Amino acid sequence: MSALVPTYARADLAFVKGEGVFLETADGEKYLDFGAGVAVASLGHAHPALVNALTQQAQTLWHTSNLYHIPGQERLGERLAQATFADQVFFTNSGAEAMECAIKMARKYHSETGAPERYRVITFEGAFHGRTLATIAAGGQAKHLDGFGPVVDGFDQIPLGDIEAVREAITDETAAIAIEPVLGEGGILTVPWSFLRDLRALADEKGILLIFDEIQTGIGRTGKLFAHEWADATPDIMAVAKGLGGGFPVGACLATSEAAQGMKAGTHGSTFGGNPLAMAVGNAVLDVVLEPGFIEHVQSMSVRLKQKLAQICDEHPDVIEEIRGEGLMIGLKCKAPNQKLIEALFEEHVLTVPAGDNVVRFLPPLIVEQEHIDMACERLSTACGQVSASAS
Ligand SMILES: *Cc1c(COP(=O)(O)O)cnc(C)c1O
Repeated sequence: MSALVPTYARADLAFVKGEGVFLETADGEKYLDFGAGVAVASLGHAHPALVNALTQQAQTLWHTSNLYHIPGQERLGERLAQATFADQVFFTNSGAEAMECAIKMARKYHSETGAPERYRVITFEGAFHGRTLATIAAGGQAKHLDGFGPVVDGFDQIPLGDIEAVREAITDETAAIAIEPVLGEGGILTVPWSFLRDLRALADEKGILLIFDEIQTGIGRTGKLFAHEWADATPDIMAVAKGLGGGFPVGACLATSEAAQGMKAGTHGSTFGGNPLAMAVGNAVLDVVLEPGFIEHVQSMSVRLKQKLAQICDEHPDVIEEIRGEGLMIGLKCKAPNQKLIEALFEEHVLTVPAGDNVVRFLPPLIVEQEHIDMACERLSTACGQVSASAS
């Protein structure tokens, strides 16, 4: 029996090495990594710039705590603010902590501005915001809440896409609305961009805050630095993580100085959040992602991938129903059980990630090249054939 708490349904695979878009097992089998550790290894594996940044920092200084200034944190905060709507950043170690900070910040804002009764957050069906007690309440999914006692109070979940339903759900106790611009775990569902703009207008009208969870969609994943740029609607607060560290655990909660005004010294904290190792890597990730041409590369790879996938979808309608998503955050809505296709892809040495709504996620590293896309799609075609054959 394993000494690990069995919370994960792990595939019977282990990797010991990675390079670019490939992962390798102990016996030298190479896999094409189109999951990127759930949209985390944004620059692929062992990217020289990240290896260099981390080893240099490791030889210099690991940890001092937030009792002191951390130069790398000031720099990464400044750069994230420069690149976005935000004025200020709080660094965390994970996505859930970034969302937790966003929720606390929204509540504190209203308390600070004379409306402490405003503490509730409106969220949407199918959402995923993390696995802490508060973020499972925000996500509202029975399978995540079941057996963990009373659900943390303060979340009102409504159907996605109906602005009148949002308006009706806003009460004198509402602090904020929280949404993923593209639902990741929920099945790669792009929220209509007009809906994000409507939420912005409604939040302004009602004096409440708008929170975007860009933990999965951020850092170039959708073909913009942040997905909300497609919509031309900015939030007051935004949670970021996954791709920001390229594999090093780091998250961030970005905000306007208006929204962050309640977060004074002593109101929130993290021992590890924003430590020098994480900041060195985060800064190195931004060096690459902000380089001219990088985001355009993501967009052109996206076009290629979507075209090829559409073809395969046409050829195997019994396996794949629809291709959806933005940039290199693509969902294959399956007709066959998604796990069947994922397993057939394992056989072809391609790694993908399941999502809700019977979806298989393609989340390749953003440094993926045309040849890798062609290779993955050829193998997908074979895998679809296998799934069809095994069903008939
Ligand atoms: C992954 C994810 C989270 C949770 O991040 P963790 O680092 O696992 O805590 C929250 N929201 C979204 C949209 C995510 O994709």
